[in-house]
Amino acid sequence: MYAEVIVDISHEKLDRPFTYKIPKSLEGIVEEGTNVEIPFGAGNKVINGIVIRIKDSNDYDPDKTKELIGIAKGSVKADTNLIKLATFIRKSYGSTQINALKTVMPVKKSVKREVKKRVIALLDETKLEYLADEASKKHKNAQERLLRELIKYPDISYSFITNKMNVSSQTIQALVKNDVCRIEEETVYRNPIRIDKPEDSKVELSDEQKKIIEDVNKDIQNGERNTYLIHGITGSGKTEVYMHLIEDRIKEGKQAIMLIPEIALTYQNLMRFYARFGDTVSVIHSKMTAGERYDQYLRVKEGKVNIMIGPRSALFTPFENLGIVVIDEEHESSYKADNMPKYHAREVAEKLCELTDSILVLGSATPSLESYYKAKNGEYKLYKLNDRLTGNTLPSVYVEDMRAELKEGNKSVFSRRLHNLIDDRLNKHEQIMLFLNRRGVSGFVSCRECGEVVKCPHCDVSLSYHRDGNLKCHYCGYETPFTKICPKCGSDKVRGFKAGTQMIEDFVRKEFPHALILRMDADSTKKQEDYESILSRFSNREADVLIGTQMIVKGHDFKGVTLVGIIAADMALNAEDYRAGERAFQQLVQASGRAGRGDNPGEVVIQTYQPDHYAVTYAKTQDYEAFYEDEIKYREAMMYPPVGNLLGIQITGEDERRVVKLSKVISDMIDRMEIREEIGKIGPANASLSKKCDIYRRVIYIKSLNYDNLIKIKDYIEKETEKFNLEKESVMFDFNPMNGF
Ligand code: ADP
Ligand code: ZN
Ligand code: ZN
Repeated sequence: MYAEVIVDISHEKLDRPFTYKIPKSLEGIVEEGTNVEIPFGAGNKVINGIVIRIKDSNDYDPDKTKELIGIAKGSVKADTNLIKLATFIRKSYGSTQINALKTVMPVKKSVKREVKKRVIALLDETKLEYLADEASKKHKNAQERLLRELIKYPDISYSFITNKMNVSSQTIQALVKNDVCRIEEETVYRNPIRIDKPEDSKVELSDEQKKIIEDVNKDIQNGERNTYLIHGITGSGKTEVYMHLIEDRIKEGKQAIMLIPEIALTYQNLMRFYARFGDTVSVIHSKMTAGERYDQYLRVKEGKVNIMIGPRSALFTPFENLGIVVIDEEHESSYKADNMPKYHAREVAEKLCELTDSILVLGSATPSLESYYKAKNGEYKLYKLNDRLTGNTLPSVYVEDMRAELKEGNKSVFSRRLHNLIDDRLNKHEQIMLFLNRRGVSGFVSCRECGEVVKCPHCDVSLSYHRDGNLKCHYCGYETPFTKICPKCGSDKVRGFKAGTQMIEDFVRKEFPHALILRMDADSTKKQEDYESILSRFSNREADVLIGTQMIVKGHDFKGVTLVGIIAADMALNAEDYRAGERAFQQLVQASGRAGRGDNPGEVVIQTYQPDHYAVTYAKTQDYEAFYEDEIKYREAMMYPPVGNLLGIQITGEDERRVVKLSKVISDMIDRMEIREEIGKIGPANASLSKKCDIYRRVIYIKSLNYDNLIKIKDYIEKETEKFNLEKESVMFDFNPMNGF
């Protein structure tokens, strides 16, 4: 028997399976997914590799085929479905096979089990007393200490004795030998979450909720496997539906994966799962130790876990019999990996469900254009949950036209309405959140008089101002000199847009000297604890105002907040990529959702120079459907996703001249391809961050209606550039990018 092995070295040259002979003694033991030790190269250096296929014939010279050595020590085997998933990831997003395999193996090595030891007394008090006195006479101080402690507590933790009481293991062993005490060992799982089981509250399902659950179950009974999109505002009962669907699968003997954007943001929801499903729920997240991860992996393997909750990597939980995958807040950009392979969890989940015959359930208050497009085309089944079950009403939303403010002499950061409302809330001792979007580095420019934003004539995305005095497009590289004169109204009020959270804080301090202020941004939250401490202080009403970036709008439930101010919606509206409108709409809806979560109704003020922008007007009325119709027209006109497909190719390196040259070579390569007629090519141009940490970055974008064309281009570039033996430059691919380069 032979094994095809992917070697554990990430290099394009070695990115193919190597065939090894399986020794007789390991036949049937080495399987697909096994981590093996192999002799590699001329020197037969021993390295690790992963078996991706077992076969009984070999095309190579059997005398030259080396034999594999054995199973890698302490390794963990990858599941067959996960190997298939790795192949899918490698093909669809580009990367070396070994990187794709590592992506689907969140746990790669076994970590020594944690054993808890306890020391238990075997003698009664009098005898221990006697021994303690004896030890005292012989000046065996440590022994005496331990004996006296055992009189008080006949059952003590081993680590407490060795660490806190400063008694050595030898001393303990000596007493064990003389039958004074014994040691009891207990293996414990390192559990990332330690909590008392909260109270579960089962609710009577609404008719809308019941219908979804019945429909899904009917499909499953009919042997149909579908993807379901649940569109419902926060508080409309989506999580309750997920829990029921999961419970039904568990009753069928299956397991569930639920993806959430970020653990910290969904803590309350997590607790609800614990309350209902108890210890069969497990979590993984990025802050877990290797030991904690490994133990969760073992619990899964031992069948002790039915539900895995976590960010995108939770998809790779090696369940025996998966039945359902849920993706909550499916529009969130954190579902897209930010390193190669840049996979999207939703797409990988679709593949996983296909492989495991599971159903996929997506939920969001503001679905991604991708999912809604598929729902409209009948690829997904669409359900709506329209009512807020928590009883409180939606907030009133005001859109403040900052052009008008300026005309009437108000040059402040705050519109008069927002200023007055802040004043009002401070007097009433109600809380305020002020939100400022900050994305990217470069600024767009707009006319303060009429609101016109200067855009690329070819790509219809905002141009950004560069220090050399030019405005540039980050898709196609189009440039034009900056001028203050507005192309639309002729005023000389075109300006760059700059505002930071620090500036807002200073301003609030000046205007409202008595307000207690907290600020949350990348600077004030270097550590996770900072982040949590700011949130809990605000939640405990230790401050009146919370100022922050995107971080503050997601999911948090602050009962005291009755006013949300969005300082400059423009910053989201005019981000320099095609998703700007979608992201702005999502953020505005989400930020609005922060107001009035408690008993008092909330108010929201959106400040903008573009009050007529469709993302603003539809966010005001919370009209997703109307927003979608407008946004999809733009995507259609420009062939942007989800109508078309976009491939970002990033070329990076230290030597600017070589990076520019390589991007040109790749661009020419694409021009010579047969499918050239079917695709649109934009660039090469500098990336929006054209130089980062002394690395130059160039990008080429390819548009195509057909995703397969993009894969062909990726494959071709990978094959051709391999011949160049690139040492200093690298080429990265991003399919349907979410975050831009
Ligand atoms: P979402 O996930 O859409 O935000 P949830 O499922 O969290 O919505 O529901 C919001 C709140 O309403 C929760 O407190 C939940 O317990 C409650 N809830 C959900 N379904 C019902 C129902 N049918 N009847 C009463 N309360 C419900
Ligand atoms: Zn103008
Ligand atoms: Zn352009």
